Amino acid sequence: MNIDWSSLPFGYFKTDYNVRCYFRNGEWGELEISSSEHINVHMAATALHYGQEAFEGMKVFRGIDGKARILRWEENAKRIRRSAEGIMMEPVPTEKFKEAIFKVIHLNKKYIPPYGTGAALYLRPLLIGSGPQVGVKPADEYLFVVFVAPVGPYFYKNGFKPVKIQLVRDYDRTAPHGTGHIKVGGNYAASLIAANRAVVEGYSSVLFIDSKENKYIDEAGPANFFGIKGNTYVTPDSETILPSIINMSLRQLAEDMGMKVERRPVLIEELEEFEEAGACGTAAVITPIGVIHDRETGKTYKFGEEGKAGPVSEKLYKKLTAIQHGEEPDPYGWTTVIEGV
Ligand SMILES: *Cc1c(COP(=O)(O)O)cnc(C)c1O
Repeated sequence: MNIDWSSLPFGYFKTDYNVRCYFRNGEWGELEISSSEHINVHMAATALHYGQEAFEGMKVFRGIDGKARILRWEENAKRIRRSAEGIMMEPVPTEKFKEAIFKVIHLNKKYIPPYGTGAALYLRPLLIGSGPQVGVKPADEYLFVVFVAPVGPYFYKNGFKPVKIQLVRDYDRTAPHGTGHIKVGGNYAASLIAANRAVVEGYSSVLFIDSKENKYIDEAGPANFFGIKGNTYVTPDSETILPSIINMSLRQLAEDMGMKVERRPVLIEELEEFEEAGACGTAAVITPIGVIHDRETGKTYKFGEEGKAGPVSEKLYKKLTAIQHGEEPDPYGWTTVIEGV
């Protein structure tokens, strides 16, 4: 095996094993180990017709002490349960979730990137309605799968550099009372045209605004948005935003650094007042935002010095990644060391 760990993209990578588990006849079965990259799905499965699909994303980092760590997996277990409930799927029990993720990490331990490469082993749990229906009804059968892939950073290849983001007004990823607050595939399907267009037009990602009043900042594509104003960490609060576990962690770290934390609706115009902006999530960790360009009005918002991440974003990034890599104390017990890998 000859992997260039430092130049891995964020993408699919074939590994040795994945794990699967079926919910059938009213109960979850045993966890199965598979070396196939394929799943055999009924053509009338509700996932294929009516979008019964939810997923998660987590990263395992090899630490400075050689140990592999995962961040706050219990939160992901909780969230995929909420996602399942939100689209009437059978929730995965936390014990099953735990068994699956630790098993799949063990089976693929040789794909955990070495310390210092910036790369991680990405875990992708997914839950789908696998049972057949033709009428619009939830399935009776569900399939839970976890596969892994060694990955590099999501948005940037050349280190911790600010990216350009495109604010869009002509597409919405979700709506109030919809499914924006849960991690389901349908939200991503709805975001693809805008996200892809942003990339074609030269941006790293898209910034959605609220779909009801068209006044507030919503999601930064597959990540949450935050801004820094003086000594305050500001992040939008809205029922259409996916509650990011990284954002939740950054809010705590910001407070610990003596900052004020505000989670509230953020008007688009307020972008003018931020000295720093960033996108955060497991895939992105923190991606500093240098420029936000409003596609419709042509207005451009700039943050900080060109080509350079702001000091607060950098401090938060360093703090969080130091905890993930076992370089600094983990005062809240966020990380779990994966024994035996
Ligand atoms: C997964 C996801 C995030 C980030 O959540 P984390 O728990 O921090 O990984 C943010 N926004 C959307 C839309 C997501 O799907």
